[in-house]
Amino acid sequence: MSSFQETPLEPCRICGGALEPAFEGRVLDRIPVTYTRCAHCASLLLLSPTWLEESYSRTWTPDPDFGSLLRSQFVHRCLRRLRARPIRILSKRSRTLDVGAGRGLLLRMLLDDGHDAWGFDPYPQSIFAEDRISETLPDTRFAVITAIEVLEHTLDPVPFLRRLRDRLAPDGFLAISTELYDAGLHGPNWAYLAPTHGQHVTIFSRKGLEFAAQAADLNWVHSFDWRHQAFLHILVPRGRGLNPLKRWILRFRHWRGEHLQRKDALA
Ligand SMILES: [Zn+2]
Repeated sequence: MSSFQETPLEPCRICGGALEPAFEGRVLDRIPVTYTRCAHCASLLLLSPTWLEESYSRTWTPDPDFGSLLRSQFVHRCLRRLRARPIRILSKRSRTLDVGAGRGLLLRMLLDDGHDAWGFDPYPQSIFAEDRISETLPDTRFAVITAIEVLEHTLDPVPFLRRLRDRLAPDGFLAISTELYDAGLHGPNWAYLAPTHGQHVTIFSRKGLEFAAQAADLNWVHSFDWRHQAFLHILVPRGRGLNPLKRWILRFRHWRGEHLQRKDALA
């Protein structure tokens, strides 16, 4: 990559704000990169990611995503909490879509729960639900669409969210996981930069995710904490919400459920 390409000339791909260099890094063990921060929404971006084709075409052995099993179990627990009374924004047997389904772990758990669950992944590697994953985004409506560790890979995050929103049933919701960047906490050694594969090119700040949700006609109503930070974000079509009492109940149940899950030696 030439130094000219590293100059942050293009605007923020989330909000259109001006970008400025934040810090330097290296992806795929050899390619120097400059992380840029948006002066308006404070998100962190990698521009001109010319290494992505190589990164996605490589077979990673071992797969650097060691967290995929725990993450799928976590998201599954959160979805169950959204299904329980009195929250009930997910019904017992819903039509669901997991975008970026990967190995199909979450998809398998949703199928085992009785959901009419489907997956979409342009690079499928499913070993748990091969027959349920499509390489094209299905053109039907879903009660819940999950996109777990996908948004930070996108180069068009707002159109991406809008495409998912357009596939939601009228009472549906999106459950999107992505870690949020905080310039006061995160620097060049932040693990979420994932320099090994260099695929995390759009890392949202809280303000950036708020902006993207609104721009995609969505309302960000709740986030489930994981490892002491907001991680799984619940977005509903604009005009709908989650009342404060339900949100409080959800927060309490989540805290208690995660606590019990960690402490239960018999689980
Ligand atoms: Zn921005």
